[in-house]
Amino acid sequence: MRNQEDFWDVIDEFLIAPVDRNEFTERAAMLLRTRRLALTQRTHLAYLVNHDRATDLPNKNLFMDRLSNAVRDATVIDMPLYVIVIHIPLARVMKSLGHIGLERAAMACSVRLEALLAEDLSLARLTTEEWGLIARPGTWMAAVLEICRRIQGLAETPLMVLGERIRIAPRIGIGVYPDDAANAAGTLDCAISALSQTETEQPVFYSRNVQHQALRHIRTEARLHKALDDAQFELWYQPQVRLSDREPVGVEALLRWRQPGGDLTLPEDFMAVAQASGLIRDIDRWVLDKACAAMRRWRSENNAPRRVSVNICAEDITAGDFVEIVMHTLSHHELPPCALELELTETTLLEISSANLAKLNTLRDHGVKVAIDDFGTGYSSLSYLHRLPITTLKIDKRFVDNVTNNLTNQAITRAIVWLAKNFKLDIIAEGIETAVQAEFLSSLEVHTGQGFLYGRPVPEALFRP
Ligand code: C2E
Ligand code: MG
Ligand code: MG
Repeated sequence: MRNQEDFWDVIDEFLIAPVDRNEFTERAAMLLRTRRLALTQRTHLAYLVNHDRATDLPNKNLFMDRLSNAVRDATVIDMPLYVIVIHIPLARVMKSLGHIGLERAAMACSVRLEALLAEDLSLARLTTEEWGLIARPGTWMAAVLEICRRIQGLAETPLMVLGERIRIAPRIGIGVYPDDAANAAGTLDCAISALSQTETEQPVFYSRNVQHQALRHIRTEARLHKALDDAQFELWYQPQVRLSDREPVGVEALLRWRQPGGDLTLPEDFMAVAQASGLIRDIDRWVLDKACAAMRRWRSENNAPRRVSVNICAEDITAGDFVEIVMHTLSHHELPPCALELELTETTLLEISSANLAKLNTLRDHGVKVAIDDFGTGYSSLSYLHRLPITTLKIDKRFVDNVTNNLTNQAITRAIVWLAKNFKLDIIAEGIETAVQAEFLSSLEVHTGQGFLYGRPVPEALFRP
């Protein structure tokens, strides 16, 4: 407003005096310059209020804004939110190299931390020696631990500051919303408080309970690394049958982990760790190869089901050579592409980019089948169904479980069958345990199913296709 008044002052002055074109232009230009300067200064001031001067990272102010937003998002999607505080001791640097040394060391630490993190993680410098990190709401604990592992890796390479080698040993404290605190500030306090409880390299969670889970994850990861090399994985098979006469039409390959003591571990106990650590790619390639090898054996014995299904996840599809690996494995085992079905969940479909979707398209064009597993349990947008390279919908066990007496599950199942029909997709019901369920599903025109009623997953030696 003030500037507008200035403007009219200038106009008034010229209205009573004869107008000098040059003077008018000069005065107007001067006004504009002043205005631009004020705006730049305001932006600069806002930047200074929200950023750390030494490292240009967001400071605690901006971090808290972002944390409050993340807490709100986590509440909406009803998922936990992990807040990570990283402490890198730099007091000794200050003592030996002074203020400049400290600033350079902080800058170097920030650059290294940023390089370790995905773009969607917001890093901030909270205090001289503390950095804050907000995991995207919904990030699994296994993924958070993977981030921590990378941060701990900073200790392996010392910094060079003003000609001195400085070893950095980060300590990590983690708070979880809403488990530890009911708001953003409380969760950050918990992460800082967890930090003060640790002298070790391992990340420390504020809550004992979560700490136990985390330790289990860390141990599982260490053991998983050995599992592939030491041939501890087994592939079990479960038939998929025609409901009308129980004729096998397919078989799903399911992973099992035989621990050195002989105990069998189910995928739900290690899949998240395998995914977060990236080990899943190697594991799933092993599964693909073993499943195709088994399929070839069954075909040579003339009692093969039509296809074998393997479960894949986003990490598999993102690999640059995904299409080549699948096609090569098929040709290596002399199988036609239609003998293979890839199962992926709705979440996986949402996680992958359109370039990666195109890979699935290519495979489907070659004849490989693509099924959406656990359909109806993820956040799916129905509009994508006709755009996706899919051939099959698998109705999740939770709808099949009480399909005969729960009207909601019945309605969902009917809707899925209707969708499949209209999009010309095959349909398989998962987790059928009783004849009543099978009959009911048949009456809804579901023709194929899988479940304990027809056969539990078993090792290849016990599987009769
Ligand atoms: P999924 O692909 O939906 O597999 C079906 C799960 O339901 C299997 O559990 C199977 O054993 C179980 N199941 C089948 N019929 C019945 C039934 O009638 N009653 C009950 N109670 N359960 C039944 P499993 O083998 O523990 O696998 C769990 C999940 O782990 C799989 O769900 C799949 O998402 C994942 N998974 C398994 N193997 C692999 C693999 O090789 N790679 C990847 N990426 N994921 C895998
Ligand atoms: Mg499956
Ligand atoms: Mg399933």
